[in-house]
Amino acid sequence: MVEYIVNWWEKRCLLTPDHIAVVDGETGERLTYSELNAMVKRLAAKLGTHGICRGDRIALLAPNHVAYFEWLFACRHLGAVLVPLNWRLALPELASILADCTPKVIGVHSRFALLAEELRASHAMEVLPLDLAEDLSLACMAAAQDTQPGSAEADPEDPFVMIYTGGTTGKPKGVVLSHRSIFWNAANTAVTWNLTAKDVTPTYMPMFHTGGLNALSLPVLHAGGTVVVVGQFDAEHTLELLNREKCTIALLVPTMYHMLIQSPAFADAVFPTMHTFLSGGAPCPLPVYQAFEAKGLSFKEGYGLTEAGPNNFYIDPQDAVHKRGSVGRPMLYNDVLLADDEGCEVATGEVGEVWLRGGHVFHSYWNRPEATAEVLRPDGWLKTGDLGKRDTEGYYYIIGRKKDMIISGGENVYPLEVEHHLRQHPAISDAAVVGVPDEKWGEAVSAAVVLEEGCSLTQDELIAYCSAAIGRYKVPKRVLFMGDLPKTAVGKIDKSRIIATMLQCGNEA
Ligand code: AMP
Repeated sequence: MVEYIVNWWEKRCLLTPDHIAVVDGETGERLTYSELNAMVKRLAAKLGTHGICRGDRIALLAPNHVAYFEWLFACRHLGAVLVPLNWRLALPELASILADCTPKVIGVHSRFALLAEELRASHAMEVLPLDLAEDLSLACMAAAQDTQPGSAEADPEDPFVMIYTGGTTGKPKGVVLSHRSIFWNAANTAVTWNLTAKDVTPTYMPMFHTGGLNALSLPVLHAGGTVVVVGQFDAEHTLELLNREKCTIALLVPTMYHMLIQSPAFADAVFPTMHTFLSGGAPCPLPVYQAFEAKGLSFKEGYGLTEAGPNNFYIDPQDAVHKRGSVGRPMLYNDVLLADDEGCEVATGEVGEVWLRGGHVFHSYWNRPEATAEVLRPDGWLKTGDLGKRDTEGYYYIIGRKKDMIISGGENVYPLEVEHHLRQHPAISDAAVVGVPDEKWGEAVSAAVVLEEGCSLTQDELIAYCSAAIGRYKVPKRVLFMGDLPKTAVGKIDKSRIIATMLQCGNEA
């Protein structure tokens, strides 16, 4: 058994006990590694009294909160599996997730106490408050002190965290991340992205999502740095907090960046401590890049997915300017392959499905062997369903999703390519391209477009603009002007809702 894969958190606490591990971005409360670990041990001892054993699932229903780390590492002590829940889901969706993962207990923030009671009606589980360990008895306290690093049995392949994804493409599946997956992503990111104990990162993405938990938070803790836990994104507040907490690296989704650059305070904002602004989860519009580059700030795009860490690539700040739109080169401890439909590597410059391999790749979908086998090959490659290409210098570009690909009149259209073009138009602030079922074309390339404030544009003008620059078959046949694009819980564009709206408009027309 490779103990360090399971015990890295305890070892980190011994190495940097007095560094600040987490900051509550709202209250400013700071916890050192040793203080946080003491809380972790107390919570583990308390959860132990509720009969939690190795392999049990513990659900968590909370907004971004310092307690995420307490509950996560307490699960590690007990060999239990943390299932952070997307609290933005509707009651039946949450109930179906609980029926799938059958947690013994659920840790609940007071804000969601009523919701938790409603959920308990459909799934028998113990509802525990997030601050469970605060009323610790003396007996528990003694037990907590006796809890030694690595005292719980655990194997690197044991499930550690389970994140439900795939809500927009069907019933959510539980992505099982083992200790090995979590460790590998944290270590690989810390090393390849040059993270150190001086790094400070805010958690603007939800911590129930891989973007908020695994992408930067755990790698920064792995490196001995500081995570500033923040909840709701607000542009003005973000501009203030990044400097107040001396943040060095931040991951936001493109929508947040868009709000940031539109905020009046952005024009004069300076970020003396920030070395990296990272965008991820979806392709980033060009104006965002330009707004940051105009300030001489390092801005780059990351690519990842829950099933793979999520991190897989690294791009140097200088290269991010010359290779705009590239996610960079593969990180140190993972492999990347671009495969054709037969599973053979495509030539340089050709489009292929992105396959990823390494210790960070997920273990399985919970209770779904067929779904697991569909994407995870016996030789360890994860078939992501995303399409990418590589240039002659080994830089990768994500150009779309296999599933997202539109087939219109027999031609393949990659929405990202058309979106990229639309977003270059000065009157357009955001755009999404979808394939709407169509009798003639199979799928008709259609665009949902949000205009910049005070700008106007007609469907015909937009079609003429596209026709001048991209192949005819890629030009949107229909344009829907919207006030805002519908988003999923984690801020990604919800294309299924756009298609539904277009179909509805079509029927009404
Ligand atoms: P999730 O597992 O929810 O993080 O979703 C992962 C998916 O988001 C990937 O499979 C991609 O389709 C998409 N994605 C993530 N980062 C990017 C990016 N930089 N460009 C384009 N798509 C992305």
